[in-house]
Amino acid sequence: MYPVLPILADLHTHSISSGHHTTDTITDLARAAAERGLSLLGITDHGPAMAGAPSPAYFRSLSSAPSTRFGVSILYGVELNILDETGSLDLPDDILSTLDFAAAGIHFPYFSKKSSVAITSAYLHAIQHPFVHIITHCDDPRFPADIAAIPDPLPENCCAGAPFTDIRFCWAATVTDAIR
Ligand SMILES: [Zn+2]
Ligand SMILES: [Zn+2]
Repeated sequence: MYPVLPILADLHTHSISSGHHTTDTITDLARAAAERGLSLLGITDHGPAMAGAPSPAYFRSLSSAPSTRFGVSILYGVELNILDETGSLDLPDDILSTLDFAAAGIHFPYFSKKSSVAITSAYLHAIQHPFVHIITHCDDPRFPADIAAIPDPLPENCCAGAPFTDIRFCWAATVTDAIR
């Protein structure tokens, strides 16, 4: 039995800019976070490879957005698309360096390989990218990875040094992704 801990942050959210069924603006998300007592909100709209997602210019503009709304600290990030087994991502480093953080995930139909070797390779490369902090929904059954192939401990350069993300934790529970 695990203790029930208070939820203080949500680091995987999509605004209307993601171009899918989400209709909330960032202001709506911040207001909802404040109403639920969160102290930190991460905005992770989809990277530009996804149909309907915002352009690179949108992500470049986030550096001038307010860092606090309704008393909630806001981190402006992205949910990148991992595009291939080498961990290619859909925003360049010069834009990623301006964001507060970056999550990355494999999304249908933007990843063509189906073998677990290719999928595992994609995750391993992505988590070692210097600007990637979080891997999203790596328990997606459409993209089965080989968890036994994930080194333990992870290489020191994984997840941009962020202490809050461990790919095995992501595998063990769907922790971040209410909206895929
Ligand atoms: Zn998402
Ligand atoms: Zn996703």
